[in-house]
Amino acid sequence: MHKEQIYNDLSQLIEKNKILRDEPMKNHTTFKIGGNADFLINATSKSDIILVYKYAIKNNIPVYIIGKASNLLVKDNGIRGIVIKNLYDDIKILKENEEIVELEVTSGTSCTKIAKFALENSLEGLEFSYGIPGTIGGAVRMNAGAYGGEIKNCIIESLVLDKEGNEKILNFEEHGFVYRNSSITKNGYILLSTKIKLKRGNKEDIKEKMDNNMKARLEKQPYNMPSAGSVFKRGNGFITSQIIDEAGLRGKTIGGAQVSPKHAGFIVNNGKATAEDVINLIEYIKKTVKEKFNKELETEVIIIGE
Ligand SMILES: Cc1cc2nc3c(=O)[nH]c(=O)nc-3n(C[C@H](O)[C@H](O)[C@H](O)COP(=O)(O)OP(=O)(O)OC[C@H]3O[C@@H](n4cnc5c(N)ncnc54)[C@H](O)[C@@H]3O)c2cc1C
Repeated sequence: MHKEQIYNDLSQLIEKNKILRDEPMKNHTTFKIGGNADFLINATSKSDIILVYKYAIKNNIPVYIIGKASNLLVKDNGIRGIVIKNLYDDIKILKENEEIVELEVTSGTSCTKIAKFALENSLEGLEFSYGIPGTIGGAVRMNAGAYGGEIKNCIIESLVLDKEGNEKILNFEEHGFVYRNSSITKNGYILLSTKIKLKRGNKEDIKEKMDNNMKARLEKQPYNMPSAGSVFKRGNGFITSQIIDEAGLRGKTIGGAQVSPKHAGFIVNNGKATAEDVINLIEYIKKTVKEKFNKELETEVIIIGE
């Protein structure tokens, strides 16, 4: 379908100012890397997401949802079709009693915002997620985790769109949570909102845990450099960043991509990195670790586009 036709159709569905054409993805990814998307939609409501998604599938146009693009590497020639950038952001208290509070959070809400909301309301269980620079949509899909916590531990149920664009409730089991993944990936669901359960706790203790986690991030990670977090999954019987370090790769640079001198599990963009530089560095790390230690590294960062 011609791009002009797609633009005209989209303008009938949502406000024109939400539709960006030939939009550089490097302006949206935490890596600050990525070629142009044919269309990027700033979706601020459930109906924006549903209308655009249904339009795309009906017309066989490739469609991809992103949150904060903090776990993504977008290739240099960009993305054909439509990228839905999820800005659907809301937190509501659904139920509460003396011990438990249930929240409904829409999928474009940032993890840090939800953790701060929990702190303000003296709710424990999300301290680990403070500082994860993604949305709850991305966090549920990835089963994000840190400092001994995982998002799955507070999920009750979620509202998703299936591949045909129908709304569907997923109960806890149907999320199929595993380490850094869920069945949302396999089934191609779009997460619209999720219900989470948190325990009432002590505000001081919650704040202390959040502050300690943030302090550890700032001390140990290249937190303020462009990156997509840990590039590889946790090793089976080994610590990934340690083995990369022991392979002599800390600081290894290809083009503008560098194994972070601060944390060997991260690749950072030194300013001018292309996706190709990052992919070449990932392959180099995998090959070197395999040759030196006979260990396989599995990529956690999701690589999309062409
Ligand atoms: C400095 C830094 C530190 C990080 N620390 C951590 C950490 O401690 N722990 C951790 O687990 N991760 C960490 N990450 C990685 C990343 O922040 C998480 O994986 C996060 O959950 C991704 O959320 P996102 O909104 O950015 O998703 P995106 O990167 O935008 O998307 C990731 C995947 O989820 C899909 N997706 C996004 N939204 C939806 C939705 N609504 N419905 C269906 N699918 C969706 C996308 O299509 C894509 O496949 C870190 C990243 C950085 C840059």
